[in-house]
Amino acid sequence: MIHHGDKAGWVEGIIKDFIRRSPENSLKNEENEPAWAEPLIGFSSGNDSLYERFKDDIGDFYWVPPEIFKEAFHVEPQSLTVISWILPQTEATKRDNRKEKAYPSERWSRSRNFGEQANVALARHVAESLQQAGYRALVPTLSPNWKWQTSERYGFASNWSERHAAYAAGLGTFSLCDGLITPKGKAMRCGSVIADIRITPTPRPYEDHRAYCLFYSKGKCKKCIARCPAGALSEAGHDKLKCRNFLFDVVADYAKARFGLTSYGCGLCQTGIPCESGIPTERSLKDF
Ligand code: SF4
Ligand code: SF4
Repeated sequence: MIHHGDKAGWVEGIIKDFIRRSPENSLKNEENEPAWAEPLIGFSSGNDSLYERFKDDIGDFYWVPPEIFKEAFHVEPQSLTVISWILPQTEATKRDNRKEKAYPSERWSRSRNFGEQANVALARHVAESLQQAGYRALVPTLSPNWKWQTSERYGFASNWSERHAAYAAGLGTFSLCDGLITPKGKAMRCGSVIADIRITPTPRPYEDHRAYCLFYSKGKCKKCIARCPAGALSEAGHDKLKCRNFLFDVVADYAKARFGLTSYGCGLCQTGIPCESGIPTERSLKDF
């Protein structure tokens, strides 16, 4: 095993270098623009009791990190860390999507398709880099056993949630429309790798899991509700089924016909709102 003095810095470097340099980080448009801006990175312990709480809350099918690790490697982990990252949308993509009222912009559709491919390539690259350095590592969402499940409480769910891992790693809190509000906002995608490497967990600068959303913290805002063309958002939260039906029945056809793309992203509730690009304040409300 290679010994890296500053393991957190080493892992952060792997992620940031990939986003800066890899040709995969592309919207694959004529300009070959990057799909993602500079990432945020956080770490949580694989034995953090939060993961047990997620399982209790979401359903027995939800993986705690040691479970998926043992399933993959058939050994007890020594010092399990969940490495999480946030890939913020670029200014150009956010600017385009802000203008839209009914359907996603082309850049957003490209980001949902090619950007997500880059996110998957990044996850593979992080796991491989760790493995090459002698650490056991895996990508939970690429596990052969990963699948969609039904949560009694939340409807459709899966064995692993990138947003929950990012929440555990201090990277953000949940919002009215289910998205995670991070210091770079909610217009992002996230990913994670689980590895048998000892890295100090990132402190969580919040206690409440909805601390950053102005609706839950102050009873204000609700700007995302009006942005949803599917009527899937209300004070009661995010109607996953209505959202999914809109994405699969309407947005998919639109993206195919208009841009020739296979893409299910809408993102209207992630743009043109106070939490789009940062943690919102009551003052930021007046701009929307
Ligand atoms: S737009 Fe306002 S209410 Fe909606 S998630 Fe963001 S902060 Fe919360
Ligand atoms: S992704 Fe689109 S359809 Fe789904 S809640 Fe957000 S705005 Fe509505």
